[in-house]
Amino acid sequence: MKTGRLFVISGPSGAGKGTICKELLKTEDLDLSVSMTTRKPRGKEVEGISYYFVSHEEFQKTIDEGGLLEWAEIYNNRYGTPKAPVLEKLRQGRDVILEIEMKGALQVKKSYPKSVLIFILPPSIPELKKRLVARGTETEEQIELRTRTTIEEIKTIKDYSYFIVNDDLKTALEDAKTIIRAEHLRVEDQAEDIIHKYESEGK
Ligand code: 5GP
Repeated sequence: MKTGRLFVISGPSGAGKGTICKELLKTEDLDLSVSMTTRKPRGKEVEGISYYFVSHEEFQKTIDEGGLLEWAEIYNNRYGTPKAPVLEKLRQGRDVILEIEMKGALQVKKSYPKSVLIFILPPSIPELKKRLVARGTETEEQIELRTRTTIEEIKTIKDYSYFIVNDDLKTALEDAKTIIRAEHLRVEDQAEDIIHKYESEGK
C-alpha cells in the first residue's frame, strides 16, 4: 500500500499558519498531528485535541526514549511532535499535517526527507507591523523586535519546497490545496502502481 504524505506547515508567528491548517482540515482528507507541550493550557484548549499538556519531566522522558519526531523550545516551553502516531498514520496511507515552528520543520526534513515543507509568509513587513499595531498588545519596541525576528526567520525559507503568501485567506487556501494536489500527482512511489494498472488492462 502507498504510504501517506507528510506536510509541514511552518512560518513566522502572525503569518496565519494556524488558520490555514484549521481551514484545510475542514475540506481535505488530512490528519493533524497533536503536539506535546510543557506550556499550560489556554482558554478553551482541550487535552489531546489542542495539545498533550505534559510536565517538563515527562517531556524530557519522551525525548530520551526517542519518542519525538522533532522538538523545539519557545519562550521557555517545549513543543514536540510525537513520532509513533505520525509514522503509523503514514504507514496506513493517511496524509498527515504538522503545524510547527521553523526549527522543528527543518528537523523533520532531516529525519524524513520525503516530507513537504510549506512556508507561510505574511503579505509584507508594513502589513505585519500594521496588524501588530492594530492588535495593540505590544509596544513600539517589541514590534520592531518582532519585525527583525520575522526577517531573520524568513531566511530559513531556502530549505522549503513551497511558499504561500497569506494576504487573502481564500487565495492562500487555494494555494495550499494546489500544493497538496500536486504532491499527489508525483510519479515517484506511484510508478509501479501506474505501470501495473495499464499493463494488466492491456492483457
Ligand atoms: P502556541 O503556544 O501559540 O500554541 O504555539 C507556539 C508556537 O509553537 C507556534 O509557532 C506553533 O506552530 C509551534 N508549535 C506547536 N507545536 C509544535 C511542535 O510540535 N513542534 C514545534 N517545533 N513547534 C510547535
